[in-house]
Amino acid sequence: MLDVFLKPTRDRSARRRHPWVLSGAVDRVEGGEEPGAWARVVSAEGETLGFGHWSPQSQIRVRLLAFGSEAPSDDLIAERIERAVARRAGDPLVGDTNAMRLVNSEGDELPGLVVDRYADVLVVRLSTAGMDARRDLVVDALRRATGAPAALERPDAQAARREGIPVHQGPLWGDPPKDPIAIRERARAYRVDIGGGQKTGFYLDQRDARDLVQALAPGRRVLDLFAYTGGFSVAAAHGGAQSIAVVESSVEAIETAERHLEPWAAAIPLRFSRDDAFGFARRVAGPWDLIVVDPPPLARRSGDVDRAARAYKDLLLWTLKRAAPDALVLSFSCSHHIGPDLFRKIAFGASLDAERPVQVLRELGAPADHPVALDHPEGRYLTGLLLRA
Ligand code: SAH
Repeated sequence: MLDVFLKPTRDRSARRRHPWVLSGAVDRVEGGEEPGAWARVVSAEGETLGFGHWSPQSQIRVRLLAFGSEAPSDDLIAERIERAVARRAGDPLVGDTNAMRLVNSEGDELPGLVVDRYADVLVVRLSTAGMDARRDLVVDALRRATGAPAALERPDAQAARREGIPVHQGPLWGDPPKDPIAIRERARAYRVDIGGGQKTGFYLDQRDARDLVQALAPGRRVLDLFAYTGGFSVAAAHGGAQSIAVVESSVEAIETAERHLEPWAAAIPLRFSRDDAFGFARRVAGPWDLIVVDPPPLARRSGDVDRAARAYKDLLLWTLKRAAPDALVLSFSCSHHIGPDLFRKIAFGASLDAERPVQVLRELGAPADHPVALDHPEGRYLTGLLLRA
């Protein structure tokens, strides 16, 4: 255990249960400096505010796991893993699926730990010095809580560099399959490449939006921009879309999308375009009745916000120009820096430029297996708007 003393007046964030102690708030450190060790966080006046994991290399020096003066033990982590898994079991907000996020980092009071389940197999991301140092404990707790026969460790290389921890990909236990894993979400079937796919293999965070697309699809001409492996297109096909156009820049992803949609190849006109979605929206007239716009994060840092806002607006403007009367547009931002308010303003700008009034029908976010702690607003990243043009 080491002691991290905060600078005078820098105790506010920890008192408000925010889990991060930033380097600028730290006055001095006493005791060992072992990465990942438990750190007691102390105010300038000498009051113990909480306990967390020490990350000497990161801008986030301590990830707090417990508040108050009582020192926790590593049992806390095992208990929280067990609780996170138990909370998802049979959760009606998650619903019928064998693929879900089991642990969502700060959202489950487990900073640095993300665990996704795909059928029997877990994919685990340990992204802090604290979790990296406790991998045996995490493995034990996950095996006990889930009974999963295999787990793959999938690193976040960028986060690992920031933390100064090794980047490691490989089995954590058992023999995670190299071939894609078949998952089922409601009646929708997908194949997930846990070793090579984006994120941990699939956009689990768009499940609620896929349900919505399926419900809205009947009889509509659907355009799925930034489609990845066709998560939304499969939902549209299940829902009875009149036609579906899939646009995605990655070859591997669009090949998987074709496979996913094979069962409908004879019944629904399908168009697959390995293309730049910005260019596609400009060039291809449509019209479309249901358009999904789900680009990668355009603003990774707060300094990117202006440029990203312009890119989003341009994208939405062209989307609106391609939309049939009364079309629905489901538009997403997965950048924390472009939240609901700014996203509405961007949509408004596009509506003005397109000279088309637009209604907001619904606001969307990540589903219940991706909880956001009120103590940690930075955990919210996904914003969606269902618009009618
Ligand atoms: N809608 C998807 C997730 C999209 S993630 C789903 O629900 O599964 C963003 C996707 O956009 C990624 O698959 C990425 O490969 C793709 N992409 C990034 N830039 C692109 C571009 N300019 N044009 C088309 N696709 C792009």
